[in-house]
Amino acid sequence: MTDPSGFLHTARSPVPPRPAEERLGDWREVYAGQVLLPLVSAQANRCMDCGVPFCHGACPLGNLIPEWNAYAARGDWRAASDRLHATNNFPEFTGRLCPAPCEDACVLALEGAPVTIKNVEQAIADHAWESGYVGPAPPGRHSGRSVAVIGSGPAGLAAAQQLTRAGHTVVVYERDDRVGGLLRYGIPAFKMEKSHLERRIAQMREEGTVFRTGCEVGGGVDAAELRRRHDAVVVAVGAGQARDLDVGGRELAGVHQAMEYLVCANRVGEGDAAEPRITAEGRRVVVVGGGDTGSDCVGAALRQGALSVVQIDINPEPGSGRAGHEPWPVYPKVYRISHAHEEARGRQGADPRLFALATLRFEGDAGGRVRALHLTRVEPQDRSPVPGTGQAVEAELVLLALGFSGPDRACGLEGQLGLVRDGRGAFARDSGFAAPRAEGVFVAGDAGRGQSLVVWAIAEGRAAAAAVDSYLTGRTELPAPVRAD
Ligand code: FAD
Repeated sequence: MTDPSGFLHTARSPVPPRPAEERLGDWREVYAGQVLLPLVSAQANRCMDCGVPFCHGACPLGNLIPEWNAYAARGDWRAASDRLHATNNFPEFTGRLCPAPCEDACVLALEGAPVTIKNVEQAIADHAWESGYVGPAPPGRHSGRSVAVIGSGPAGLAAAQQLTRAGHTVVVYERDDRVGGLLRYGIPAFKMEKSHLERRIAQMREEGTVFRTGCEVGGGVDAAELRRRHDAVVVAVGAGQARDLDVGGRELAGVHQAMEYLVCANRVGEGDAAEPRITAEGRRVVVVGGGDTGSDCVGAALRQGALSVVQIDINPEPGSGRAGHEPWPVYPKVYRISHAHEEARGRQGADPRLFALATLRFEGDAGGRVRALHLTRVEPQDRSPVPGTGQAVEAELVLLALGFSGPDRACGLEGQLGLVRDGRGAFARDSGFAAPRAEGVFVAGDAGRGQSLVVWAIAEGRAAAAAVDSYLTGRTELPAPVRAD
């Protein structure tokens, strides 16, 4: 158990990121090289081990947070790692990437100083790898059944690892040339270096999971044929259909979807190209969209040497009022900003974000290249334009980060597997992840949930694996932390 009064004599002290100007000189993780263990042990000891651990309930994976806090507090890192891995296949991913709803739910958040759960998770996971506590866990016996997993993002990887360990033969089919989904070509290395992904993939290969890259199922690889070859199929293709901006000038050179840009940046990191095909270097950059994807574009553009970076958000500034879709003012218990915003403030002397603005049109030069965006201020309640508030912002590179509406429209999976879309554009499934009218086909991750978080993708992958195991064998001991409804 942790010290029940630990929080009274130890203040919350998150691990500090590297100085902003240092981080902008490379693509290494924001926290690269920080010494976590001693600090984290003391921080874990702030956990009150609440009778009802709200942190546990707030985590889609049901992470046993008070339990591993207790082990971390007393320096029993092996036991902490065991408890962490009991509910999470990839804690080094979530320790770096999760927005940590567990910290918002921590009772100490009422005082604005929750336990630094995310730091503790990362420290346990990293130390476990360094100490050799994490190794392959191949199954003791094989079931004779085979499963195709389509897509190798965190949902597909979690489903594949669970099913392989349960004794099934699992083949992961991935459209890209490398495994990892958005962890590979979406999320930049300054949030999570790819070595963490490589290490897990190596572990999974040793356990027996087979990866086939360069296979577009529904395109070059026939999905119906795949279904016949395997006893079950998990569709974990993500939500790659990016929303667009249907305004004048959209066709101008220099206006790109955020994911086109981020893939180029990530490919340079992978060594595929010396220079990115789309670069922010020497350009005034405007990012349209205020979410994670937009913030990652801000961080990437700064590292590439952008002249300036502005991020436009149609929503009002947090805390400044309430948006029309929020019935009550939002109460941000622990308000976070992206590290990229801090970096931009340091470099430019001002926050890059401009709120409550909508794009009316793009303006081009004689050569057909974008040179400005025309914007209007919008009402926070209903996003209607405020008359007389038009303004222009110069831009030589515009990145659209407006969210995603479901799996790619062009993919042939629907016809070939008999999948249907729900009202939001995601692939429909029942509460047990099974696709209606497609026997033996299951849907997990962003493909069914819509754009979400890594922690949800892993939780859905685990739960879908339990559903598949039960479908194949009539019973399962695999955990199902979430339902699909
Ligand atoms: P994906 O990761 O999208 O993987 C789907 C995979 O399926 C891809 O590899 C794709 O190539 C493959 N595929 C698609 N179609 C086919 C086909 N027909 N045949 C074969 N393969 C196919 N979440 C966080 O929690 N924290 C963050 O900091 C964060 N940052 C983000 C930054 C960006 C830029 C983006 C875009 C998202 C971010 N997210 C973040 C969200 C998170 O990455 C996703 O919720 C998560 O990756 C979804 O996992 P998934 O496995 O469902 O899909």
